[in-house]
Amino acid sequence: MANTNTTIDAVTNPTNNTAPIDMVKTIKNLERNNFVVHYFETGEDAIAYLKSRIQNKRVALGDSRTLQTLKVYEALEGQNIEITDIHRPLDGENFRQTALRTMQRDVFLTSINALAQTGEMVNIDGTGNRVACSLFGSEEVFFVLGTNKITPDLSAAIYRARNVAAPQNVVKNKKSSKNPCAIRQDKCYDCGSPDRICNALTIYYKKMRNMDIMEIIIINEDLGF
Ligand code: SF4
Repeated sequence: MANTNTTIDAVTNPTNNTAPIDMVKTIKNLERNNFVVHYFETGEDAIAYLKSRIQNKRVALGDSRTLQTLKVYEALEGQNIEITDIHRPLDGENFRQTALRTMQRDVFLTSINALAQTGEMVNIDGTGNRVACSLFGSEEVFFVLGTNKITPDLSAAIYRARNVAAPQNVVKNKKSSKNPCAIRQDKCYDCGSPDRICNALTIYYKKMRNMDIMEIIIINEDLGF
């Protein structure tokens, strides 16, 4: 279980552990938590797998630089019944309408802010639609990530989500450009900004009940934040 103090501490790095990632141990711990795991050396290999795995489905993509970099939308678009991307609203559609279309799909794909070698994952969300889709309503959820997001343990994963991933996501989000982390670009300041993007922190301990599969695609590349 996470230490409460490190869970709420936005600025103190809980570990200086720089040991190399033990991928075998990481995969074993994730599988013990009922996640399905696939490891690929390249993004190209991962895309080939996703194309073979996801066909004739109603698919949705959450906000993710990793999915954009890998061109997951383009890979899956032609071979599925329908694909909804939070970044591709229909004409005249507002954000809420697009976000609602990403819910209750056969398949939802997103990424993760941090994955602990001990078998847990962490995501931060400002609006909640990305995390909501990953927790309920989708039959299958895929988390696609690069090895740069793997941390030694859960405390380090929470630290990474708050102090590495979130500030970079703030920089990406122009609306939040006045937040202190966007100005200083070094860490989280636990701000009270109206455009704060860190309103919920989700820890995935195990596969959600009633969801068919939660599958983790680990790629041996630096991807996303
Ligand atoms: S938006 Fe606020 S809470 Fe989120 S990382 Fe930046 S300073 Fe921290």
